Amino acid sequence: MFNIETITRKNIQQMKAYSSARDEFKGKASIWLDANENPNETDLNRYPDPLQISLKNEIAKLKNVNIDQIFIGNGSDEAIDLLFRAFCEPGLSNAIIFPPTYGMYEVSAAINNVDVIEIPLLENFELPSLNDLECSLKTTGLLIICSPNNPTGNSTDLNRIKEIANSFYGLVVVDEAYIDFSESESATSILAEIPNLVVLQTFSKAYGLAGARVGMAFANPDIIKVLNKIKPPYNINSLSIAAALNVLQNKMGIDEQINQIKKERDILKNELLTLKNVITIYPSDANFLLVQFSDSKTIFKKLLDTGIVVRNRASQIENCLRITIGSKTENDQLLTILKELQS
Ligand SMILES: *Cc1c(COP(=O)(O)O)cnc(C)c1O
Repeated sequence: MFNIETITRKNIQQMKAYSSARDEFKGKASIWLDANENPNETDLNRYPDPLQISLKNEIAKLKNVNIDQIFIGNGSDEAIDLLFRAFCEPGLSNAIIFPPTYGMYEVSAAINNVDVIEIPLLENFELPSLNDLECSLKTTGLLIICSPNNPTGNSTDLNRIKEIANSFYGLVVVDEAYIDFSESESATSILAEIPNLVVLQTFSKAYGLAGARVGMAFANPDIIKVLNKIKPPYNINSLSIAAALNVLQNKMGIDEQINQIKKERDILKNELLTLKNVITIYPSDANFLLVQFSDSKTIFKKLLDTGIVVRNRASQIENCLRITIGSKTENDQLLTILKELQS
């Protein structure tokens, strides 16, 4: 049975959170003399809302969750780090990850002195069978599933996630940075049933705000409270809150861009398939294609020489490059160079 106290670090449970001026007085006032701000009005002379309520209200409507189920981080990278800090004991706990996957999990684990148990994905990049998982280990604080996975592009079935979460002692984190490009349903739809589930999403990819650093974690209110307790008081700045609100006001524009990117993904895939030096293109639910070439090293270097940068993933998957779907013009330029290379 899930119990927030058994999985939260003792020192985090016992500590008292910082109480900022904006935590202590939230009402309306005409004169603000409590936060040592400069009184000269600019758009930025006041501290931002520590709990980003205006933004959470919009996200709650869009994602069909309650506002107490939402945490907003300085990118989802901040949420990942806070999850390690709250739910893994340095030097004692470990986290389960499924490589090849996103590199930050390992980095956050290392920063927090938490061991990583790597259980490799199967050859088709699906999660290994449940029997192989050491689900009941009390020392395993987090099990992280990236879906759609970076860099392989495939998704994990929601039933599979439910099954794992139901048999796992710690928290199951589902990183959905690319969910907007996928046809699969988000794991936020099963939040109410699964108390030990955390779903991560971000404004960095489909929503076009990588520079603003706004990430979201969805979970049951007990988990969200712990994250709020340990985050820096004003972790999301006013400019970024405004940028995120602005993007949500034009959700239709974003949906159009997503459709355009998905269309370009299909076009690029079909064109790449005609090239002699392309061995495999893996199915993608994301805004990138993982492509296996006959000689990725040569291709990578030649592309760089012409000013085109793709992500070299050959160290994770043999001869593979991860190619982000760009604009039509950018994709066409990439194809032109790759076509020249094969003759
Ligand atoms: C890009 C990416 C993120 C995004 O992180 P932000 O800090 O929100 O920019 C998270 N997870 C994965 C798997 C990603 O590829």
